[in-house]
Formats: sequence, structure tokens, C-alpha cells
Amino acid sequence: MKIGVLGGTFNPVHNAHLAMAKLARDTLALDGVLLMVAADPPHKAVDHGVSAAERLKMAQLATEDVDGVTASDLELTRSGKSYTADTLAALHAMDDSLTLYLILGSDMLDDFPDWYEPEKILRLATIACVPRRGQDETDRAAAERLRNRFGAEVVFLPAEAPELSSTAIRDRLELGQPVSEMLPPQVERYCYESGLYFPPQIRALQAQMRAVLKPARYIHTMGVVRTAAELAQRWGIDPQKARLAALLHDCAKYLDPVTLCVTGGDDTGILPVQHAFAGAVLAGMQYGIDDPEVLRAIRLHSTGDKGMTLLEQVVYLADLVEPNRTFPGVEGCRTALEQGPDAAMLCALEQTIRFVGTDAAIHPASLRAYKDFCARCGRTESVQP
Ligand code: FE
Ligand code: FE
Repeated sequence: MKIGVLGGTFNPVHNAHLAMAKLARDTLALDGVLLMVAADPPHKAVDHGVSAAERLKMAQLATEDVDGVTASDLELTRSGKSYTADTLAALHAMDDSLTLYLILGSDMLDDFPDWYEPEKILRLATIACVPRRGQDETDRAAAERLRNRFGAEVVFLPAEAPELSSTAIRDRLELGQPVSEMLPPQVERYCYESGLYFPPQIRALQAQMRAVLKPARYIHTMGVVRTAAELAQRWGIDPQKARLAALLHDCAKYLDPVTLCVTGGDDTGILPVQHAFAGAVLAGMQYGIDDPEVLRAIRLHSTGDKGMTLLEQVVYLADLVEPNRTFPGVEGCRTALEQGPDAAMLCALEQTIRFVGTDAAIHPASLRAYKDFCARCGRTESVQP
């Protein structure tokens, strides 16, 4: 059996980690690759206080559908600091016929002699090195030094893994910027739903949403947060305002109908949209949001209205097309996003008028919005309620 070991804190595990693992698996015909999750360093927390259990959970999610790559808790079940030499020795002790490969980015070769017991590591494993872009000379020289000094076996993997860093991903999540290109989808979803890398005030609001919303509504809400981050970046609006409005957009969803209508102050009697009007009031009074742009985005997330800002459009559209949505026509709305915010709004409003209009009243604000987006897009009003 040939086994690759890719160690790290995986805070969080990202697409470059997976790319390195698959590259090693395929190039060296490995029977398996272990993502070896490092234990929490003694007496100090890893960045953002993310526990080893949470980092392991993300590594498990990332690898659940990847052939031959699995997350390992071997270092977590051992006390004290995680040393690669001890881990390789433990693997060998389990099965001494294992051929072990330690998968490393080539930038780690230089410091390798300073690792704990480098000779022991090199006795137990061959180094499988993932080269850096345009650093061939430097990387090969570093490998040569290890061969000369320790008799190391170093093999280079042919292709280059994408360059990503967990630090950059944590920073992006903290700021509300999208990370869908950088993380496996299950890990991205976990990061959003858990709020692991979000600032404390967002995490506090998330905890409140988790408490007041039904589980499926909370998952929907975090899907809206994720989609709003994508759209905010695409259309150049403030990601933090988009995150805040998306997080609270359904905060009034489970008020009873009377409280809902009284709080929202909308007198149309159209019940399904009342939680949006009430949500804007609640976000201000109960959740302490005082940004009028954020409050209006919450207010309009269900009906739209004339004169919508980009932030309001982002929240309206993210609510409609977030990944958990499956209503007929959702794919058409997702495709319409490619044509820009106004065209997407027009498509969404036409959809609403057509489908909602068959069995319920359309809110006058939606009709005002429809008229407005027809004018913005230079189209005639073709759909009638
Ligand atoms: Fe809603
Ligand atoms: Fe919603």
C-alpha cells in the first residue's frame, strides 16, 4: 500500500489542498491520501479560535466525494504538539508494509531541516513535492540540499496546484467577500452556516436567526447570504451591507399574522409579503440595525418597488435564486443574472406576476417595480396581473 500524507491546520481546507492530494494520488498511483489535521497547538488557539474538531469536520466534508482521499484524526487523538515524525511513525506502527509519501508544497523544503526530527521523517517517507509557479531552479536546488544532507528521497509532482491560502480565505469571509471559487461547496456552506470566520457581531446575529427561524429557513437565509456575496462582488456594492441585509431579511418570518401586519404597517392585507415590511422594522428595533440602506433592502426583498438601488436588487435576487431554491423558473432567473441586475429584476418580476398572480393578489409595489424595470430596460410591459 502506498499512502500519501498531506498535513496542515486546514483552517479551512481549500481547493488547493484537494488539488495537491489528487495530484499526488494520480501521479504516484497512491492507494490513498490522508489529510492529516493538526491538533490545536497547546496553550494557544488557531486563527479565529476554530477548534480541531471543526477543522476535522471541514476536511471530512471536503473529501466525502473524493476517491481515495480521506481526512485523518490521528494527530487529534494524540496529546501534545503534532509532529510529522511522530505521525509517520504511528502510521508505520499500524502497518509496517506501508510506503509513505509526505506531500509538501516546495516552499516548505527550505525550512525542512528545522522541523522536528527531519532525519526520522525522511527515513519513514519519500517527499512528494508540489512545485511553485516559475520557481523550478530554486525548488530543485532546495531538494538537492535535502538529498545531500539527509539522503532524502524527493520526487516532484508534474503539475502545479492553484495558489490559495487559508489566511486569504479567512480574510475574505470576515469581510463578506465570496469564496465559492476557493472552497469545495460543502465546506463553503459549512463556513457560512457556522459563521466560523465571520466577525463577532455577525455571529451574534446569526445565533439569533438560528434561534428564531425554522432550520430550513435558516439554511435558506445562509444561502441568501452566500448568493448576496457573489452578486455584491459582481456588481460592485458593499459586501458587508449585502451580508447584513441578507442575514436579517426573513427575521420577521414567524411573527403571528396580526403582529406582522401591525408591525409592518402595510395595509394591502397581502400576507406572504408582510414579513418583509415587518422585518425592516424588527431589524431596526430588535436587532439594532440603523443603516437605512440595509433596512430598505430588507423591506423590499419580497415585493421590490420603483427606484430600487443595487443593494436592494442584490438582496431581492439573492433571496429568489439562492442554491436551495427549486421553484419552476428558478433556472431562468439564475441565467438572467448574466444580463445584469436590471434585466434579472425584470425577469424575476415577470415570473412573480405570472405565477403569484394566478392565485393571489400582486402587491402594488411589485407592479411599480415591474413598470420601473421595464422602463430601465427599454421594454414594454408585456405581462398582466
Ligand atoms: Fe422573505
Ligand atoms: Fe427569504
